[in-house]
Amino acid sequence: MKVAVVAETDANEPRVAATPETAKKLTALGAQVAVEPGAGVKSGILDADYTAAGATVTSDAVNGADIVLMVRRPERAVLSRLKKGAIVIAIMDPYGHDDALRAMADAGVIAFAMELMPRITRAQSMDVLSSQANLSGYRAVIDAAEEYGRAMPMMMTAAGTVPAAKVFIMGVGVAGLQAIATARRLGAIVTATDVRPATKEQVESLGAKFLAVEDEEFKNAQTAGGYAKEMSKEYQAKQAALVADHIKKQDIVITTALIPGRPAPRLISREMVESMRPGSVIVDLAVERGGNVEGAKPGEVVQAGPAKIIGYLNVPGRLAASASALYARNLLTFLETMIDKKEKKLAINWDDEIVKGTMLTRDGAIVHPNFRPKSAA
Ligand code: NAD
Repeated sequence: MKVAVVAETDANEPRVAATPETAKKLTALGAQVAVEPGAGVKSGILDADYTAAGATVTSDAVNGADIVLMVRRPERAVLSRLKKGAIVIAIMDPYGHDDALRAMADAGVIAFAMELMPRITRAQSMDVLSSQANLSGYRAVIDAAEEYGRAMPMMMTAAGTVPAAKVFIMGVGVAGLQAIATARRLGAIVTATDVRPATKEQVESLGAKFLAVEDEEFKNAQTAGGYAKEMSKEYQAKQAALVADHIKKQDIVITTALIPGRPAPRLISREMVESMRPGSVIVDLAVERGGNVEGAKPGEVVQAGPAKIIGYLNVPGRLAASASALYARNLLTFLETMIDKKEKKLAINWDDEIVKGTMLTRDGAIVHPNFRPKSAA
């Protein structure tokens, strides 16, 4: 069982798909782990650290590999070096990238998209959306604090009192919950909103105040899978009115609202941004999916009237060492389900729902039901 760990080629991707810890565990499972030179360097991991963990470091790592671990989807340059039937595991970003899926199918690899992992209890430890969103939520507060020209906690000093910052979190999924907890730890006064009623109790249990239009539609806004639905135009208007009044009084707003398979909902208009006090900060964590905030620019911090809008891309990558450690463990736990520990070889259960839920390509075809070409469906 040869496992390859690829050095990411995208300059904006500092994460790595295996750490010395996971490489060591894979070796114990019977794998020979080969790591491309420099793969971990942006996550604070040296080649020598991998070698010490029992891996080899070589630019030929992917040649002949049975399993290839990556952060992002493989480009053609990597695909062309893989053997047929090789397993490739990554964050595949499959929506709207049919050509890339076709290229993986044509290369004959078995591609698994970690972000499609079913959200069932057994797979929680393999859930990359959660492990990375949690770090994003934390980092969003740190990034906001950095741009904010005032202190977060209330400070009573001999020279007078500095008031606590007012922080408003919009969207209380995994990232939002961590943002609430982090802002509270820094001493801010925190409020939060979401369209899913289940979040009200979660917000309150973290010591923050919940704010939402709690009508009939709100009571039914959660899907069976635990995700948000797209809200009606009427609801959005009522929500916008409530939010508009609240935002005027906030120092920092962090938006994390997403709806699976849809563009991010627009929650903050230009007028709302203009209504804020000078020196305010907004962080748009949904900027990669179209943005929650009007005027947010992907990859930039922009001054928009009185407020700065932060639109950093790949926010988990801003904590590369932590993000890699958690991502690598997510991959290891997933791989463990595919390995026969006694025989020390690959033994994939093709009927397992976590395999079926994440597998994009196999035997030259796109096999995932969400991405299969229409004619073959
Ligand atoms: P997400 O990233 O899809 O969305 C972030 C948040 O935005 C969600 O809370 C959503 O309700 C909210 N949102 C959408 N539209 C909005 C609007 N117009 N206004 C305000 N908020 C809006 O969510 P996520 O972090 O992936 O979490 C989704 C759910 O899945 C949560 O209930 C979470 O607890 C659950 N979850 C389950 C598991 C598991 O069982 N394995 C793992 C992780 C998360």
